This record gives sequence, C-alpha cells and structure tokens, in this order.
Amino acid sequence: MITKFIKRILRRDPMVKHTQANNTGAPKRIPKKSHRIDPHLLSKNAVKVTQTLQQAGYEAFIVGGAVRDLVLGIGPKDFDVATNATPDQVQRLFRKARLIGRRFQIVHVTFFGKGHPEIIEVSTFRALLDNAGDHVAESGRILRDNVWGSQGEDAARRDFTINAMYYDPSSETVLDYHGGMADMQKKTLRMIGDPTKRYREDPVRMLRAIRFAAKTGFTLDADTRAPIAKLGKLLQDVPSARLFDEILKLLMSGYSWAAIQGLRNAGLHHGLLPLLDHILDNSEASKGANDFVKLALANTDQRIQSGKSVSAGFLFATLLWPDLLKNWKANIAKGMANIPALQDAMDDTIATQSSGMTIQRRFESDMREIWSMQPRFERRIGRYPYRLIESPRFRAGYDFMLLRCATGEQSPAIGEWWTNFIAADPVGQDELMASVKNELGAAANIPAKRRRRRKPKSATPPEPTLG
Ligand code: ATP
Ligand code: MG
Repeated sequence: MITKFIKRILRRDPMVKHTQANNTGAPKRIPKKSHRIDPHLLSKNAVKVTQTLQQAGYEAFIVGGAVRDLVLGIGPKDFDVATNATPDQVQRLFRKARLIGRRFQIVHVTFFGKGHPEIIEVSTFRALLDNAGDHVAESGRILRDNVWGSQGEDAARRDFTINAMYYDPSSETVLDYHGGMADMQKKTLRMIGDPTKRYREDPVRMLRAIRFAAKTGFTLDADTRAPIAKLGKLLQDVPSARLFDEILKLLMSGYSWAAIQGLRNAGLHHGLLPLLDHILDNSEASKGANDFVKLALANTDQRIQSGKSVSAGFLFATLLWPDLLKNWKANIAKGMANIPALQDAMDDTIATQSSGMTIQRRFESDMREIWSMQPRFERRIGRYPYRLIESPRFRAGYDFMLLRCATGEQSPAIGEWWTNFIAADPVGQDELMASVKNELGAAANIPAKRRRRRKPKSATPPEPTLG
C-alpha cells in the first residue's frame, strides 16, 4: 500500500510543478459571429474530452493547429486539447487514456469509432522558461521544459500567433492571447515573442514557419522571416530523428512543392537532405531530375489534398530516384551488370543520405522494393509479369513506374501495357503476353513460330533480387 503510494508520488516528477502566472495579459474573447467556426468541422470526440474535463471542474480548450484550421474553414487532421488538469487528473476521467512521455507527460485519449480510432492529445498548460538559464544550451536551444503553468504562459510558449488560439466548444468562444485572429485576417504568419530568440530555443520552428506559410498561403511577417537566413545553420544541431519527422510533415503537408520552394527562398535546404540541394538547383543539368521530382511531389500533394493515403517510402523513393539513376548508369558504364549495378547504386544513394538526415529503416526497405521492381516491369516474358503482379508492394512499384513514363524516362507504351495487364482477365493477360512476343518478333524481324522454339536468351537478364 505504502510502496504504491510512494511510487505514485515518484511518478509525479518532482521537477514538475505549477508556476505562478507570468505577466502574460488577458486574452481577447472572440465570439462566434467573428470567428465563424463551423461546429460541423469539430471532432465529436474532442468536444467530448473538453466537456468531460469542464464538467469535472477544469478548464479545457481545443488548441493549436486545429483552431487555426477551423478558423480557415478546413477540417483539422487531428485535435489537441489543453487543460489546467494534471495528466493524472485527466487520466482518471477517461477509460482509454494513456500517459505518454517521461519529462512532460501528456495524455492520449483514444476513441474507437467506425473508421480508424481517434486519438485526442490532452496536454496540461505549460510554463514559460524565461529565466531558466540552466535549461538552455549555449546556442539558446531549450533542453528541458517540463513545468506546468497558466493558460497565458502556455499560449506564450507556442510558436506562431495563429497557432496559439484556444477554442471552447461549449461557449463557442475563441481565446486569443497574441492577436492570432487579426493575423489570420491579414494572412500573416507571425512568431510570438522575439523571433531570433524563439528560433534559437528551437531551430525546428524555422521549418515550421516555411511549412505553415506553404499550407495556409500566408506571408511570413518581415521580423519573423528576417533571422532565418542567419540562423538556418542551427538546424544542424537538431537531432536527426526530429529533423526527419519535421521534413516528413513538410513533404506530407499536401503543399510540398510550395514548401520546398519556400525552403529554397529562405536558404534552408542546404544540409537538410542532400537530395533537396539538387532538387532545388535550377541548372540545366538538373532539369530532367527536377521534372521527375516535381511531378512526384505534385502527385503526392494532389493525393493528400483529396484525402488519399501516401506512403513515405514511396515519396522518398521518388525524391532519391534521380540520384539513384545517376549512380546506376555510372555503375553500368564501369562495366557492372544491370541488376548488381542497381543494387550497388541503391546502397550508395541511401548511404549519401545518412550524412544529413537518416532515413528510417522501415522507409528504406519500402524504397528498395520499389526501386528493385523497376527493371522487372520491362521483363514481359514467361511467368515474370504474373509473378510481379503478386508482389506485396506491386501497386507502389507500378505507380512509381507510371511517374517514370510520364516524364519520358520509361516508355509510355510499357506503362500502358501494364495498366491493361492489371485490368485484364486471365485470357486477356495471355493475349497481352502474346502481343509482347509479336512485338519482340517484329522488332527482331523473326517469324513468330520460329521464335517460339528459341528462348530469347539475350532479352532475359537475371531476375533481380528484392532488397
Ligand atoms: P498540423 O496541422 O501540421 O498538425 P499543428 O499546428 O497542429 O499543425 P503540431 O506539430 O501538431 O502542429 O503542434 C500543435 C501545436 O503545438 C502548434 O499549433 C503549436 O501551438 C505548438 N507547437 C508545436 N511545435 C512547437 C514548437 N516547436 N514550438 C512552439 N510551439 C509548438
Ligand atoms: Mg496538430
């Protein structure tokens, strides 16, 4: 009993405490007629969470990006809730609630409905660490920020004014501490506080600035933009896993092409991902590669905007393809056989990326599979196409091949043949196989009958192994 009690006390990290409210000022209360949030865009579960907390006597609001999107009239992809209840107090109120994180605990409340389960992330208002010198690295980067605070402080430690609004679904009021609503109207992205200091605390905010500007179409306020050119190099100090997550968010935002242009304009692309360096290089030599990547990104943006899924492995496979192609061709020129040349090029291409940002293993294996499949689309003989179509990642490999056809790097006739092959019944598939034989025969000017007895040895490279 006593040990249980002690354990419980210990779990409440003694470093974690509520601070007195700083002088953060009173928020502006914005009524429905001004913010015009459409209640239909709200997640019922998020509303349930705020109501439950409020009924138990706590303050609770929908917060952050969800409020920004609601005011923009966009359905948010996820909902965060902020409250003055501690994580333990939150957890006690919900059946499916899990404490996440060790330093600053938040609570994931899960709801199981018809589709995917929905997770509402509930965090306790956090304090500002203005005078916490011992929590800050030499560069200004915040190393520890695990102190609970008031709502005003919580607002002040958020990044942009438009990301620091709180919405109470029961009174349909928005609380705005930093002029977020005015900035929404001016279509301006403005950092809260002194931008230089805020970027030093967390350099990832520079990438977030570019991402949100691309997503909302807003303009970066001049003071928010100015320090980025000088501070961009601080991104090198950010742990690579965090950098990877942020780049992934940027690429999967549905506005990746605009965001990548934004990175270039801000001079932020160097050293993030080696591939971004030459995607953004406008020289004539990079034109073919750029066309492919541009098309791939436009395709990804379109899929995301229309609510379709996109795999990160696929996306990285497209971004790295021009590099891979170059390495592959160079290996062949050195005298390597086609498939070993490809395998070697895959290793090289992935290794080059590790210098900047490590591509996570699970994506790496997807990428290797998609790439290895490419030469197999050309082998339309024997049982090969029937086997290829059964590969678990066939669809991704096929979509990838169609992108190559669209930029003329692969023959569009091959893309069309596969599209027909996928749609055909078994008889149709056999007919398509026969049509290839005839094509090959016509190309070699050999009568089809004679050809049948001879195996087309030279046209049969060894089957590539999947990576
Ligand atoms: P998205 O639509 O991409 O999810 P978001 O604004 O919700 O955008 P999140 O990364 O989910 O972004 O973060 C939620 C909120 O937490 C933000 O709106 C912001 O208020 C705050 N936040 C997140 N990251 C930071 C950061 N690095 N610095 C300060 N505040 C942050
Ligand atoms: Mg979010």
